[in-house]
Amino acid sequence: MVARDRGVSMNASLDRRGFLVTAAAAAVGAVAPQPASGSGPPGGALPDGLFSLGLASGDPLPDAVVLWTRLAPEPLAPDGAGGMPRRPVPVHWEVAHDESFRRVVRRGTALAVPERAHTVHVDVRGLEPDRWYSYRFRAGRETSPVARTRTAPAPSARAGRLTFAFASCQNFTNGFYTAYQDMISAELDLVVHLGDYIYEGPGRGEALGRPHAPEGETVTLADYRVRHAQYKTDPDLRAAHAAAPWVVTLDDHEVKNDWSGEGHPAVPPAEFRARRAVALRAYFEHMPLRQAQAPVHHEMLLHRRVGYGNLAQFHVLDTRQYRSALAACDEADCEAVWDPARTMLGPEQEAWLDRGLRTSGATWNVLAQQVPIYEDAPVGLPADKWDGYRESRRRLLESLGAARNPVAITGDVHFNSAANLLADFADPGSAVVGAEFVGTSIASSSPREPAPETVFDPDPANPHLVFTNRGERGYVRCTVDAGRWRSEYRVVDTVDRPTSTARTVAAFEIEAGRPGLRRTG
Ligand code: FE
Ligand code: CA
Repeated sequence: MVARDRGVSMNASLDRRGFLVTAAAAAVGAVAPQPASGSGPPGGALPDGLFSLGLASGDPLPDAVVLWTRLAPEPLAPDGAGGMPRRPVPVHWEVAHDESFRRVVRRGTALAVPERAHTVHVDVRGLEPDRWYSYRFRAGRETSPVARTRTAPAPSARAGRLTFAFASCQNFTNGFYTAYQDMISAELDLVVHLGDYIYEGPGRGEALGRPHAPEGETVTLADYRVRHAQYKTDPDLRAAHAAAPWVVTLDDHEVKNDWSGEGHPAVPPAEFRARRAVALRAYFEHMPLRQAQAPVHHEMLLHRRVGYGNLAQFHVLDTRQYRSALAACDEADCEAVWDPARTMLGPEQEAWLDRGLRTSGATWNVLAQQVPIYEDAPVGLPADKWDGYRESRRRLLESLGAARNPVAITGDVHFNSAANLLADFADPGSAVVGAEFVGTSIASSSPREPAPETVFDPDPANPHLVFTNRGERGYVRCTVDAGRWRSEYRVVDTVDRPTSTARTVAAFEIEAGRPGLRRTG
């Protein structure tokens, strides 16, 4: 197939299905380096600063990893085009064993097209399991910086140890991403981001002297593209992406605060669907996701599994796209949270998760997900958490009871906590079926942010809750081997300045085969 044909079929596909098929063509590599016909004037020098938004990699398999970049010499250009000419640009990529690229193992060319904001998602295959690689891109006259990524161990591998960090909630206007500096000071095999990667609210960054996007809420595709670009102007976020592969899932703010399923109480349904479609499209464009995750209209397949040999299976969840509308709770009445017709995961994802948990042979089964599962009694408001979907949670806990060493990692609430997950929260004597680590935000602060406070065994009404740490920013680092899981809650001293020191505010362990959190620090 010649470049001309490829361009034509790409455009035909675009008319019919949005941008879905574009990168399938772009990802196969070896595209001839002239622009496709009919897509704007050929030639002409590209602006400088093409790689201003950095590099990223993600969703590692034993033989593959996704490489990402976006050409954006002017990240905050209001039209969302990043300052790029409206034509396809070939982007060469290289993967090597060494940082100086003397031992290149794979190379190819992807096409960055304006329909996809000049992003590329290269699904590099044919790599060796459980090994570090260096990668870089080249476009026009420019070569990108070098980034590092790592493949997963083979499915049958008796993997020794996995070290990863999980993060969430990085409201750019609330502070600097100092937590990422600390995160990458230790070598990590993986970073998991649990959502609120961007916030849709006013994007002003000038209070902290940070680049700011146009004021107002993100509504259009251009708005969401500019917002993602604004966030990636942060050097610590880029450094964290360059340091290790990421596995990402989204929460509400990537679209709009507290959306659920097909709707949002403040937005007419058709308008919301259109907005969800452009938000998901911009999200996919800016994340190191595989083609299988590319959105079609307003839907995107985000729940998926990422395996690390027989050591760990990550069940990545999507608690937004299929959930029932929030229960209309007020202080007096929250009956709807018990309604068995309401769902958090939707029937398909729920069955997929149940099957995956019951059949996984991995020692640790990790639920990478958004909102807290553990009960926060009495029924707390808002009803956005699993507390607001009690029948769904009852079924989830049943599935966890049938799984080997399930551990939930959670974001959303902007504070740290740790809890044992009980078979039945109404019965404090019921079996411990798993554990949940809730990590605080990278930067987001909550309305009425509390003063920093750390409490162990905080609440007699919730004996399963063994730790809370409020009013601080950070992330959680996890070190996992066949016998033991260890989580360290890292918090930074400040997000008001570009650099900060960090410390461990608490640490917990779980012994494989013996559910229950043990405090170790
Ligand atoms: Fe958040
Ligand atoms: Ca959230």
